[in-house]
Amino acid sequence: MFTVDIKIFHQAGSEYDAYLTPPGSDIKYLVSYSEVKGEAIINGHKVIVTGAEMGFGGLRYFFICPECRDRKQKLVMTNSGLSCKKCLGIVPSSLNRSKNDCNYYWDLAEKVARTLDPTFSIYPAIGHIRFPDKPKGMHWETYSKKYMKYKEYKKKGDQAWMGAVGSLR
Ligand SMILES: [Zn+2]
Repeated sequence: MFTVDIKIFHQAGSEYDAYLTPPGSDIKYLVSYSEVKGEAIINGHKVIVTGAEMGFGGLRYFFICPECRDRKQKLVMTNSGLSCKKCLGIVPSSLNRSKNDCNYYWDLAEKVARTLDPTFSIYPAIGHIRFPDKPKGMHWETYSKKYMKYKEYKKKGDQAWMGAVGSLR
């Protein structure tokens, strides 16, 4: 059992076949990664990779957990294949998220936007994140309050994300 991290995958290039080693271990696993196809094959197990544009330029990448279809930065490889920690029961629920966790704030931002558009996703598969338009009949004041709240959470999430990436170096 070992963990695979999307950040390491993407640092290695956008299209390659390679043996990767998780930091601090002597495990080697075979990866066939393609950003264009949006997939990685890890020791023969295929997993979808998705990119989302960030407000300050650049792209953020996620695996799609083969079991729950959630976007994850890390997946765990077991004898039966890849799944996220939540699906494996390692983390009981998202309540364990700390306030330093970017996903904690991105989820809050998404919740705010979903009060306007239930289909809104903060991790769109393609293109920019677009905040929903004002629904007919809603006061501009109410709408702009939601937008400000969304922006605040989004910014905190992005900052937490930048902190997490920075600590890898
Ligand atoms: Zn999962």
